Amino acid sequence: MNTNFDLVIFGGTGDLAMRKLFPALFLADTDARLHQGGRIIAAARQALTDEEFRAKVSDALNRFLPKPPSAANLEKFLARLSYFALDVNNPVQYAEMKKSLDARDSQTVFYLSVGPTLFPPIINGLRSAGLNTPDTRIVLEKPLGRDLQSSRDINQLVLSAFAESQVYRIDHYLGKETVQNLLALRFGNTLLEPLWNRTWVRDVQITIAETVGVETRGEFYDSTGAMRDMVQNHLLNLLCMTAMEPPSSLDPDAVRDEKLQVLRSLKPWTQQTLHDDIVRGQYRGGTLKGEAVPAYAAEPGVSPQTETETFLALRTEIANWRWGGVPFFLRTGKRMAERRAEIVISFKSPPHSIFESPLAPNRLVITLQPEENVRLYTMAKAPGDGMRLREVHLDLDFKDFFHERRQDAYERLLLDVLRGNPTLFMRNDEADAAWRWVQPMLDHWTTSNLSPAAYGAGSWGPPAASRLTARDGTAWHEELGG
Ligand code: NAD
Repeated sequence: MNTNFDLVIFGGTGDLAMRKLFPALFLADTDARLHQGGRIIAAARQALTDEEFRAKVSDALNRFLPKPPSAANLEKFLARLSYFALDVNNPVQYAEMKKSLDARDSQTVFYLSVGPTLFPPIINGLRSAGLNTPDTRIVLEKPLGRDLQSSRDINQLVLSAFAESQVYRIDHYLGKETVQNLLALRFGNTLLEPLWNRTWVRDVQITIAETVGVETRGEFYDSTGAMRDMVQNHLLNLLCMTAMEPPSSLDPDAVRDEKLQVLRSLKPWTQQTLHDDIVRGQYRGGTLKGEAVPAYAAEPGVSPQTETETFLALRTEIANWRWGGVPFFLRTGKRMAERRAEIVISFKSPPHSIFESPLAPNRLVITLQPEENVRLYTMAKAPGDGMRLREVHLDLDFKDFFHERRQDAYERLLLDVLRGNPTLFMRNDEADAAWRWVQPMLDHWTTSNLSPAAYGAGSWGPPAASRLTARDGTAWHEELGG
């Protein structure tokens, strides 16, 4: 990393900073990926000295890194850190911050690791102190709004102070190695691309299932729900990476233009599809991995009368020549049977079978969590007499081939911001197109007063989710034995 930098993290004492950002920066530093003179300045509300703050980070690194840091690496990293106590609503303090940043010849990055209600005072504060110079960058954490209008308001505000090229809207799913690998698999090989279309693909399923409930974030989640928390951003980004046309290059805008085309080609909702093609659910109490867990409505911070969905499954189509008619199923949920995030491409069955054994469709499964790997389900002859076929899977476990350490998603994305590479960040028009597609669903739920269907904690969601895939003559990956 050749550029010297000042990375200012607003919300630098928060949960996200401690669990994800500092561990990611530490790993990058240990690998000598950060400029030697680079500084990391945490700006937050608590009154802390630099030393107290460093002790907090040291504690977090010991808790959240895969293995405890060595004393030498820890000391080197902590020396980069400083703490700036501020109330973001106090405009005077931005001028003080400016004095410290102006004295240096370095790339300044502002990372807003705070809730969106703090975006306006921070952006106004940076602007009034003249800190939004054209060579700075600003990183925005999700959620970027709670509907189309509020996301437009945020973007309008950000773009009144920064140019679009300075804005990095983060979606950490795009930083995952396997998502990058999807580009390599599709466009670095000739094997898959001829099959990657309506002629050969039967359906596509994208799932992000969590076993956790709302943990300590009940109040936040209850005003958010699965659609805003997962579908509008992560699931749609994964859908775009799966379905996009080959970009002309890896240029950031070439990739993002193709993603945008997918969002624009998503089939618009009708009253019929809003009713038939979406399953909302909310978990009831149940047993997960042998432990009794409470119902969502009984979680701390959640209203007992809550109507928020903790599960969502939907069917959509991409109205273009490559994908016309192919069902795309998106699904996410909390307190599900397993923690897994995966993209499953199911291929059509052979047009004629010469075997007595039933043929399961070939499936390419790209797993992002808990492991990152790619698995191909194929039919093979079972050993022994006769011609009995059985499903087997071939694993492309990249660990066997590469010995380099895999970067964590936040690590890759933070390094990309410092380098000035926005390929893996959402552009304004992408975010807007995603919200435009999501908004009719939100409106429908408001006007129709539909309650989410119940599902037991530790299950795969309400039974209606299975009916959704069954209508297309298919089934969810785990129902097919995946
Ligand atoms: P948090 O509540 O743990 O931390 C909030 C931070 O903001 C603290 O550092 C606090 O000091 C600071 N802050 C609050 N009010 C302030 C004020 N008036 N002036 C100065 N600083 C102030 O929140 P978090 O979990 O770290 O989340 C931050 C943002 O990131 C949220 O928008 C959240 O939705 C998003 N996010 C969080 C996670 C996660 O895993 N925690 C994941 C993805 C996105």
